[in-house]
Amino acid sequence: MKDFDAIVIGSGIGGLISAGILASKGLRTLLIERHVTPGGYIASFERKGFVFDAAVDCISGVAPDGLIFKVLEKLGVHNDLGFLRIDPIRVSIFPDIEIPVDADMNAYIDRLTSLFPSESAGIKEFFKIACRVYEMIQSATNMFISNNAGSNNISPKILKFMNTTYNELLSEYLKDYRLKAILSDRCPFLGLPPSRVSLISMIALIMSYFTHGAYRPVGGFQRLADVLADGIRKNGGRVILGNGVKKILLDRDNNCCGIICDNADEYTSRHIISNADFNSTFKNLLGGRHASIAEKMTTDVGVSMSFFIVYTGIKGEIKTHSSLGYFPSYDIESFFKPEAAFMDKSTIGITISSLEDKFRAPHNCHTVVFHEMVEATNKDFDKSRCTDIILKKTEKVIPDLKDRILVIDSATPQTLERYTGNYRGAAFGWRQASGFRNVARHGIKNLSIAGHWGDMGGGVLAAAYSGAKAAGEILMKEGLQIDI
Ligand SMILES: Cc1cc2nc3c(=O)[nH]c(=O)nc-3n(C[C@H](O)[C@H](O)[C@H](O)COP(=O)(O)OP(=O)(O)OC[C@H]3O[C@@H](n4cnc5c(N)ncnc54)[C@H](O)[C@@H]3O)c2cc1C
Repeated sequence: MKDFDAIVIGSGIGGLISAGILASKGLRTLLIERHVTPGGYIASFERKGFVFDAAVDCISGVAPDGLIFKVLEKLGVHNDLGFLRIDPIRVSIFPDIEIPVDADMNAYIDRLTSLFPSESAGIKEFFKIACRVYEMIQSATNMFISNNAGSNNISPKILKFMNTTYNELLSEYLKDYRLKAILSDRCPFLGLPPSRVSLISMIALIMSYFTHGAYRPVGGFQRLADVLADGIRKNGGRVILGNGVKKILLDRDNNCCGIICDNADEYTSRHIISNADFNSTFKNLLGGRHASIAEKMTTDVGVSMSFFIVYTGIKGEIKTHSSLGYFPSYDIESFFKPEAAFMDKSTIGITISSLEDKFRAPHNCHTVVFHEMVEATNKDFDKSRCTDIILKKTEKVIPDLKDRILVIDSATPQTLERYTGNYRGAAFGWRQASGFRNVARHGIKNLSIAGHWGDMGGGVLAAAYSGAKAAGEILMKEGLQIDI
C-alpha cells in the first residue's frame, strides 16, 4: 500500500504517540523513521553486556494516569513492559549538603522546611502557587488535545506566567540563596538558568514528576520505543525503519499530499505529522519559502542546550542513588555560562540506572552515565580530553570510578545530531525561555508538528503531549474524537 490516511515522519516519543493514537482510532497510519531503530532520544544501546540509555535519565507520564501509559493501553501493549519508579526523584549534591528530592511532594516540603525553618511560610506558599500553575497547565493542555478550536485561546493567567521567569517566582517567596539554588536543581533539565527559564516550563517539569512520578522502563528506554512501535503495527499501522524522508510533497493549494523517501519510494496521504527537527522539516523537507520559518524561529527563539555524555560500564558495587545532580557551588546561574562547560566548578548530572534495574549490567557491575551541559553546536570536541576532564570531576562523587571502568564511550552534540537529526544536538527543542509562546505558524493546513520542536515545554512528556495534540488535530478534521 502506498496511500495512507496519515504519515508520521520520525519515531521520537512525539511521533510514536501521534502514530499510536491515530492507529488506535483505525486510521491507516504510516510511521517512517530514518534510523534503524525507533525512539530518537529515547534510544538505548548495548556494549559488552551493559545497556545504556543514550540520553534520558527519567520520565513521567507512564503511571496508569499518565498520557504515555494511556496510549500504550489503547494500543493493547501496556502489559508488554514494566516501569521502575525512582524515589527519591534525584539527589542533589551541594557543597555542604545532599538533598534528596522526595517523590512525595509533601515529604520534600517537610525536608526543606526543617532545613530552612525561617523560610517555612515562603516554601509552603511557593508550592501552593506551583500546584495552581500546574493545574492551569494541565487543563490548558487537555483542552488543546481534545478541542483544537480552543488552542489559540490561552487564558490571560497562563499568558502572564509565560512571561515570568522561574527566578521571579523563587524571589517572590524565598530569601535564602541556598534554598533558591536547591529549588533550581532541575534547571539543567531544561538547559537554562532560573533567571531565564520560563516559569511555565519549569513548573511543568517539576510538578509532572511530583504528580505522576519519575520512572524508567525496565531494560532501558529503547523498550518503550520498541513496544510503542509494536503496538502501532498490531493496530494496523505500518512502521518503516532505516528509510528517511527526503521531501514533503505539496499540491498547488500548498497542502501536503505525500512524501519522497531517501530510497526514492513515494507515499501519499491526506495528513502529515513531522516529528523531525524543525529546521530540517522547513528547510530540507519543505524547502523554498518555508525555509524562512525555521530561520526566523532559530533567530528569534533560539535552540536549547545540548550535552556531552560519557557512558561507563564499571565493575564493583556503588552505594549512591541512581539519579544525581552534582553542584560544586550554590551559584546556579554560573553553570549556564558557555565558558562553564568542562570546568571544575560546573554542574554535572549522573545516572546509574543499573542500581534499580539489575539486568542492565553484568553481575556486580553498573552503568554510570555523566551529562555535562554544553551549548548546542556543530564544533568538534576533543572527545578523549573532554572525557578525562569529566571523569576527574566526578571523582568527587564516585572516588575510585576511573580504576573500575570496563567499558567507556562518549557522545558530543554532533553525535546526538547524527542519530536523531536534532539541530546541533539540541536536547529539548526550542530554548524554554520566558516569553516563548509557541512555534511560528506555517499556513500548511494538513501539516502538524509533533515533539519538542512543536510546542512549549521540554522533555519526553511534553514531546508526548505535542504528539497527542498533533493526532487530535487530525482526528478532529476526520470527525473523530480523541479519547485519551
Ligand atoms: C542528554 C539528554 C538528556 C535528556 N534527559 C531527559 C530526561 O531525563 N527526561 C526527559 O523527560 N527528557 C530528557 N531529555 C529530552 C528528551 O529526550 C526530548 O525532549 C524528547 O525525547 C524529544 O522527543 P521528540 O518526539 O521531539 O523526538 P526526537 O527524540 O528528537 O526524535 C526525532 C526522530 O525523528 C527522526 N527523523 C528526523 N528526521 C527524519 C527524516 N527526515 N525522516 C525520518 N525520520 C527522521 C529521528 O531519527 C528521530 O528518531 C534529554 C535529552 C538529552 C539530549
